[in-house]
Amino acid sequence: MSEIRKKVEKTDEEWREELTPEQYQITRKKGTEPPFTGEFWNNHDEGVYRCVCCGAPLFSSETKYDSGTGWPSFWAPLDENNIATEEDRSLFMRRTEVHCAVCGAHQGHLFGDGPKPTGKRYCINSASLRFDPGRRQD
Ligand code: FE
Repeated sequence: MSEIRKKVEKTDEEWREELTPEQYQITRKKGTEPPFTGEFWNNHDEGVYRCVCCGAPLFSSETKYDSGTGWPSFWAPLDENNIATEEDRSLFMRRTEVHCAVCGAHQGHLFGDGPKPTGKRYCINSASLRFDPGRRQD
């Protein structure tokens, strides 16, 4: 887990132009898509999930599992260095927020009720991700 490095930095206006309204709302304004509506919660294909904003590889199909929540869920990130977390005290709850460490895009939240071996559940918005099908090349 690392700090947000902001290797990719763009203005709010630039993000707004590059992203769809839904992607913008979720990644730059910390929104959440309704469950069971996103593109990837039920995706079982092999591949790499990248940050929709900057393309950083964040998650793999190898650690994706069916959490029953309606959001894509992973028990580990692909590369800890590309994920940053931060305490989120909004909505009167204490939650851990998950960001892309490269560009700061909001991805979702991290919970402690995931499966073995980590016991973690990275609960991620489909709209924060783009999917690269196929086996890992890097
Ligand atoms: Fe990113």
